[in-house]
Amino acid sequence: MNSKPSTSNHRCRFCSTELEHVLCDLGLSPISNAFVRADRLAEPELFFPLRVFICHICWLVQLPEHKSPGQIFDHDYAYFSSYSQSWLAHARDYTDAMIDRWGLDAGSLVVEIASNDGYLLQYFKQRGVPVLGIEPAGGCATVARSKGIETEGKFFGVSIARELAAAGRQADLLLGNNVLAHVPDLNDFVAGLPILLKPGGVVTMEFPHLLNLIRHNQFDTIYHEHYSYLSLLAVERVFAAHGMVLFDVQELQTHGGSLRVFARHTADASKPVKPAVEALRAIEISLGLQNLEVYQAFGERVRESKFKLLEFLIRAVREGKKVWGYGAPAKGNTLLNYCGIRTDLIEATVDRSPHKQGMFLPGTHIPVLDPESIALARPDYLMILPWNLQDEIVAQMAHIRDWGGKFVIPIPEVRVLI
Ligand SMILES: [Zn+2]
Repeated sequence: MNSKPSTSNHRCRFCSTELEHVLCDLGLSPISNAFVRADRLAEPELFFPLRVFICHICWLVQLPEHKSPGQIFDHDYAYFSSYSQSWLAHARDYTDAMIDRWGLDAGSLVVEIASNDGYLLQYFKQRGVPVLGIEPAGGCATVARSKGIETEGKFFGVSIARELAAAGRQADLLLGNNVLAHVPDLNDFVAGLPILLKPGGVVTMEFPHLLNLIRHNQFDTIYHEHYSYLSLLAVERVFAAHGMVLFDVQELQTHGGSLRVFARHTADASKPVKPAVEALRAIEISLGLQNLEVYQAFGERVRESKFKLLEFLIRAVREGKKVWGYGAPAKGNTLLNYCGIRTDLIEATVDRSPHKQGMFLPGTHIPVLDPESIALARPDYLMILPWNLQDEIVAQMAHIRDWGGKFVIPIPEVRVLI
């Protein structure tokens, strides 16, 4: 089904080849962070296609753009990084590692692209390293500034990179966590990096690894704000086209398996390419990331995973069990909308972020409550939507076992934790 050439009229956002091959089609879905207020439940919502393509020339897996980023990352944007404890620990460890490895001090400048509410830069600031954030979401930028973190309220690209470089503000360390995959104009974004980077400086970028999406069936990490699904092979190619070399790579456990790549100017000979880069490149090739059939088999697995989840939920509800969700992440909204799961199957979900509590999930209108309400409702099953935070959530919510409650993980296939 997916092997038929499509007449998509979409072109690859990196190499402009016409996109002919569909990786998977999750139907129509609302923007995942468009939480609905109680007084707007009766109003219409916008749904957009979630159809992912693979470019057979550069192997960039991508979702065509349907909405301008200004519409997605507006003031209602509900994601505040600081509400996840494990993400904060990750940010602190990164800070310590980078200060040690690159000898950053009071004379350096660390610039973070998509700095959110300052969740990461606060740790550099605490250690006396000057910082600058770049964050277009107004609510997040305001919170960051209130913490004393200077923040440019703009989208990153060539234009702001030139502005800052002209003002003498080039970065010794230029980083972006979970932003590279989220930029619609990939070429403008990556072209800005070597401009803002000081000669001899280092770029680090973290992004979910395409290999894990394919291998572990993480189709719920597909959502509209997530434009590119990145392999080392594809990122190397994009960076090389803009005058940068990836000289190191680390595999991380965050977001179900991410890569942290280290890049420098192509001309900077002071940092030789580490063997880890060649090793991972070889793994990606051997597992088929340059083979269309490997991508096409994924679509079938996604459908099967939906059927199994629905079978589980329908059986549970027919048996009179109460099912709740835990968390209200973007990936949860993809999963619930694709599978058509509403309050008939999952009564409610909870989230620690006060910005989401009292709202309703987009499309499915499942209410988002305070985690405290779980102890009152005593659900039989608690389905963990941000499964990448599974260990943290199971530890926090261990008390559900007092009334026989069980944790359910939906991905790669539904399973109940014993
Ligand atoms: Zn391409």
